[in-house]
Amino acid sequence: MAKNKFNPADSVNPETIALHGGDYRSDPSTTSVAVPIYQTTSYQFHNTEHAANLFGAKDFGNIYTRIMNPTVDVLEKRVAAMEGGVGALCVSSGQSASMLSIQNLVKAGDNIVSSTDLYGGTWNLFANTMKDLGIEVRFADPTDPESFRKMTDDNTRAYYAETLPNPKLKVFPIREVADIGDEYNIPLIVDNTAAPVICKPIEHGATIVVHSLTKFIGGHGTTIGGIIVDSGKFDWAKDPKRQPMLNNPDPSYHGMVWTEFAKAVGPIAYIVRARFVGLRDLGPALPPQSAFQIIQGLETVSLRMEKHCSNAAKVAEYLSNHNKVSRVIYAGLDEGEAGERANKYLKGGHGALCGIELKGGKASGEKFINNLNMFYHVANIGDARSLAIHPASTTHSQLSDEDMESAGVNPSYVRLSIGIEHIDDIIEDLKNALDAA
Ligand code: PLP
Repeated sequence: MAKNKFNPADSVNPETIALHGGDYRSDPSTTSVAVPIYQTTSYQFHNTEHAANLFGAKDFGNIYTRIMNPTVDVLEKRVAAMEGGVGALCVSSGQSASMLSIQNLVKAGDNIVSSTDLYGGTWNLFANTMKDLGIEVRFADPTDPESFRKMTDDNTRAYYAETLPNPKLKVFPIREVADIGDEYNIPLIVDNTAAPVICKPIEHGATIVVHSLTKFIGGHGTTIGGIIVDSGKFDWAKDPKRQPMLNNPDPSYHGMVWTEFAKAVGPIAYIVRARFVGLRDLGPALPPQSAFQIIQGLETVSLRMEKHCSNAAKVAEYLSNHNKVSRVIYAGLDEGEAGERANKYLKGGHGALCGIELKGGKASGEKFINNLNMFYHVANIGDARSLAIHPASTTHSQLSDEDMESAGVNPSYVRLSIGIEHIDDIIEDLKNALDAA
């Protein structure tokens, strides 16, 4: 790749990094400014020694697109820089990012402690699929950081949480839980999907950040993808018993001890193993075409987040004053401890997500959704367009009333992901739907 004359490492600003990061200035053979789609499966080795060095992790370079690709590489480097990490790994979906971020540290018989407030797919993965694999996920109360400590034992390998989980939209106490983790040498993995740009979990002590790139970073509802970012700040070698995967000889990589390897190349033991073992063996690679699409989104994510946030703030204010709305759930309206956390961890806005409960109950929630004209009725968040869903009749319909309530879903609850359209059109659509509800 042609190097940048402008050194993006000089900038800490996400607007600039998103456009100039990734160690990419232009394509060396064509001078293409846009990142090309390197649509290839494999890469010609110079000779057998070169090939052997690549396979032995003595040299870094391209081997095979399941494990790395130059288009994907730019995306990885840009998101890593935006989050303040030292390296990243793209995968085929947000789901595989969550799974691989944990599988890199745990094996059957181990456990992790996770916040209860999670995306439904992650909840299912943790409560059922991981259980079937012999990995126990213990669920802790995110409003009480000490509950993470209480659930920790000798086999706990990681803590897991979301920055801004919906439907409750209560910002997670990142620093508080990361500090508890530090006492036990346990890393905190944070899913920052709902708060790119406005929250940098690594600055608050998170070790690993994951994103569904499908949402705000991609931003246009076209492409599924995920990423794992390594802060490079965690001392994996400090307590080898706590982190055996990175400290014991790895039989799947000719006895490599990943923390030893990191001594020579920098603090990237975690993310290198995730690529060379996790991605290599399990195979959820992000296609280069998808990486290209997501890079287009990434380049404007800061601008979009500004607009998402300012529109959502106006929507929350409008809905708070509407006589058919009994409650507005929005991080910017939180008071007390939750409000303090929202202001501590979110900068430049409180995100695009906003929930409402309607006085007329479940039927009103359904009528409201059915009378939205501009908002799309979809199971998604983070599109440039405004989106809405009624969890009680869709994503949470299989839950008992009691379980729904504990998940934060009142039967009338409607989740809104506020887009970047003109605010007048957004409010008009909400007004008409509320009139009919
Ligand atoms: N994490 C969060 C917070 C999500 O909202 C989602 C999807 O909705 C995921 C992870 C999973 O992402 P994907 O759909 O890209 O697999």
